[in-house]
Amino acid sequence: MSAENFITREIAEQIQSKVGTPCYVYSEAALRESAAQVLAFPNAFGLTARYAMKASPNSNILRLFASMGLHFDASSGYEVRRAIAAGIDPKRISLSTQELPEDFVSLVEAGITVNVCSLSQLKRFGIALPGSKVGLRFNPGLGSGGTQRTNVGGPASSFGIWHEHLEEVQELVEKCELDVFRIHSHIGSGSDPEVWIRVVSMNLDLVEAFPNVTHLNLGGGYKIGRIEGEKTTDLQVIGQKMKVEFEEFAARTGREIHLEVEPGTYLVANCTAILSRIQDETSTGEDGYKFLKLDSGMTDNTRPSMYGAQHPMWVLPADESERGEEDYIVVGHCCESGDILTPAPGDPEALSPRRLTEAKIGDYFVVGGAGAYCASMAAKNYNSFPESAEVLLREGGRIAVIRERQPLEQVWANEVAVL
Ligand SMILES: *Cc1c(COP(=O)(O)O)cnc(C)c1O
Repeated sequence: MSAENFITREIAEQIQSKVGTPCYVYSEAALRESAAQVLAFPNAFGLTARYAMKASPNSNILRLFASMGLHFDASSGYEVRRAIAAGIDPKRISLSTQELPEDFVSLVEAGITVNVCSLSQLKRFGIALPGSKVGLRFNPGLGSGGTQRTNVGGPASSFGIWHEHLEEVQELVEKCELDVFRIHSHIGSGSDPEVWIRVVSMNLDLVEAFPNVTHLNLGGGYKIGRIEGEKTTDLQVIGQKMKVEFEEFAARTGREIHLEVEPGTYLVANCTAILSRIQDETSTGEDGYKFLKLDSGMTDNTRPSMYGAQHPMWVLPADESERGEEDYIVVGHCCESGDILTPAPGDPEALSPRRLTEAKIGDYFVVGGAGAYCASMAAKNYNSFPESAEVLLREGGRIAVIRERQPLEQVWANEVAVL
């Protein structure tokens, strides 16, 4: 499965007249479908499916997912506050963070659960909240991210408590009489069922070391294909294999462990497209390239520049003229050589021309697969471009604005004039 263009010219024109371009366009139908898939994740003894909200945190998406039964993973104290402000019940929020916030006690008192992610976090948590329930995030020593920069397990990753530090953990847990109810790991395991089985068995070993643990959270990292040729994880295949591991563990230890999954990408990646317009074009001669310049770019999507990520893209002609095809390099509107939407796969430094419908200035241009880590990870306000608008394409076809374009004055609103 790869991302499809759900934006027709008619929809593009409606969005253009409502909020202009560039604009993130979320498909409600697609969001509901992916949520239903995750909620159907196979399990032996119960499932809590969480949405890793850092992938795309607009409050409307959080509420849509909450209404379908999803819980949430927050990556910072600020994300917890944001989710609560969106109306999410704190009891549905779990925090796994690289930076335990100063106010974590009040967040726990509000009802969230915490997975401590380092020995020092464990110590701070135990001293402040002795006797409390806590989850432990481990780095099980295995990693399999898509690129070095997205690898979140193994010795080169700082995420989680290194699995060999079990003794120090046990000491702190005993000293503070903590109730370890959950083991957590998120290593970006991808689409290979064999890797997932290894992850499950390594984590069940950790569960065995903590007799009070009732929940095992395996994080996110389920791969989703954005363009042709990229793999999409089959949740049913992986889940059925994982289920067997849980059943065997129960048969051996008598402990029926509740499963938690926590995808970000899988839930949203192909549910959003960026609608932009071609505002200029240029060429660098016979031995060079033809460039299309968008009114969007790294200000809306940094993934191509950061990871050499591949997104599907389509020209939507603004007129009825006959069009052929052309090879183009698509670039963003920033004065920054790295603002390229068509890098070579996995190599942000190299150009990789893309065969597209012949384009003219003024045409609409759609970048698909832009639901995960695009709006949330944009190079906001670089070159002082205001943050883009967001719309939700409702199931009935209505277009609802869910974020206005940022008013220009907000770009410098927090500056303090001393000169
Ligand atoms: C980012 C993150 C996720 C989601 O990862 P995806 O690759 O987007 O599925 C899940 N859990 C934790 C703790 C994370 O940090």
